[in-house]
Amino acid sequence: KTFKDLGISQETLKSLEDLGYSKPTEIQEKAIPAVLSGKDLVAQAQTGTGKTAAFGIPIVESVNTKQKKIQALVLVPTRELAIQVAKEIKDLGKNKKVFVLSVYGGKSMKHQIDFLKKGNDVVIVGTPGRVKDLLERGFLKLDNVKMFVLDEADRMLEMGFIEDIEDIMSYLPEDRQNLLFSATMPKEILELAQEFLNEDYQTIK
Ligand code: AMP
Repeated sequence: KTFKDLGISQETLKSLEDLGYSKPTEIQEKAIPAVLSGKDLVAQAQTGTGKTAAFGIPIVESVNTKQKKIQALVLVPTRELAIQVAKEIKDLGKNKKVFVLSVYGGKSMKHQIDFLKKGNDVVIVGTPGRVKDLLERGFLKLDNVKMFVLDEADRMLEMGFIEDIEDIMSYLPEDRQNLLFSATMPKEILELAQEFLNEDYQTIK
């Protein structure tokens, strides 16, 4: 299959061409149609499989860039991953002019707040602690989020982020699409999926 077969827009096909992605990886071929159909998803995927674009492509396809509101939130375990994932979504959304902001600890909050105040960003990629902090201080408004991604969910649980994640979810609208990516599928991840995903979620490996 080609990216075109997966129903991706011309603008995003152009971004994929610029990135040199000539055809979808296995996880992309499975995940993209499921996500574009509106379903929640639990995907078991290792780093290096193209998992970032598996959720990044549906994100850039789904956001409305004319609406200057945060429409997608991606939580990741580390600052390095926040930077890397934000860059990939920026590249994927280049031809649709999708603005992406990464927020993470260890960097001055002021800089991130200044960007949030401008209100241009439609996608936020962040670590749970900093996202929660910005939410509680009132700088982050998530009531227009329609797509919520937990990336490397197993690592986030291992690192003790579960309470932060639950707190963050309480700020999200009920009516949203949830995507959970994890390298391993321990019982805790399946419980998290049971608890927070729409019940007809799709599972892919
Ligand atoms: P990830 O699993 O998201 O960390 O991606 C691993 C690497 O594969 C990254 O460097 C991506 O830029 C690259 N990549 C993702 N999708 C594709 C694709 N369809 N074709 C070629 N490279 C890809």
